[in-house]
Amino acid sequence: DKGLEKTKENFFDKLSKAVVGKSKVDDEVLDNLEEVLVASDVGVNTTLKIIERIEERVAKDKYVSTNELNKILREEIAALLSETNSGNETDFTIPANKKPYVIMVVGVNGVGKTTTIGKLAAQFQKRGFKVVLGAADTFRAAAIDQLQIWADRTGVPIVRQEMGSDPASVAFDTLKSAVSQNADIVIIDTAGRLHNKVNLMNELTKIKRVMQKVVADAPHDVLLVLDGSTGQNAFEQAKQFTKATEVSCLAVTKLDGTAKGGVVIGISDQFQIPVKYIGVGEGIDDLQVFNKMEFVDSFFK
Ligand code: GDP
Repeated sequence: DKGLEKTKENFFDKLSKAVVGKSKVDDEVLDNLEEVLVASDVGVNTTLKIIERIEERVAKDKYVSTNELNKILREEIAALLSETNSGNETDFTIPANKKPYVIMVVGVNGVGKTTTIGKLAAQFQKRGFKVVLGAADTFRAAAIDQLQIWADRTGVPIVRQEMGSDPASVAFDTLKSAVSQNADIVIIDTAGRLHNKVNLMNELTKIKRVMQKVVADAPHDVLLVLDGSTGQNAFEQAKQFTKATEVSCLAVTKLDGTAKGGVVIGISDQFQIPVKYIGVGEGIDDLQVFNKMEFVDSFFK
């Protein structure tokens, strides 16, 4: 599977090393496993949860061979991911009475937010949806320009104002425009300045409130974009953004450039938010709908 090679090799290599010379899962193997999971950015809480579940199985079955450990670990990780990641986004359809379907995208600068929006717009469009983009990250001129580039590349209309204008006003205009064009999906970019948490919360709340003047139940999704290669930072960002707004789903980017895809497991578990998309490169086609079984396979194959 393209892009996830690094995750695959490294987790599997580390896991193999953790059990080398051991035939039975004992405390030492579990300690090693704990280290491997933490080193793969699964996060401490989720790691402990996984270890506990394996301990229970070891206690119940008395003897568990290290050969079986792969299978058991795989089952436990799949079970964890299933608790939050149930749907199949490949068949995304617009729910009744939710047209235009409004996706508000949040995340700090540099995580791949604009790129993810561009890739998403391209994919939705390819599937026959009429998409409109809203450049409500008005804080940086570069953000507006970058989104414009994706709009040009994909031929998707964009609503923008000059830098420094009111983000809520841009979002309002975008929804108005989408409704008048009878568009299917609206994707709204927002500024991700974490240094002022109260401002962040106020800004996102205001954007929502103003959008609801046009589409009463907007946004239908709040997509948080996280950089999968940043480990603890990604956890911290998830914490801040879930405090600031109601995040409904995640996109985890740059999984092609990291050996630590465990962030996907830890964050969806810890925050109980489904991962909808993963980014595996810079190109327009390098956004995959998250498939939990494929992801688990990439860890263990
Ligand atoms: P933003 O500031 O969050 O909007 O970030 P951008 O969308 O501008 O992305 C920042 C950089 O990350 C750019 O160079 C992108 O090409 C790159 N990028 C985004 N997603 C991915 C990904 O999934 N894999 C890789 N390798 N690079 C990515």
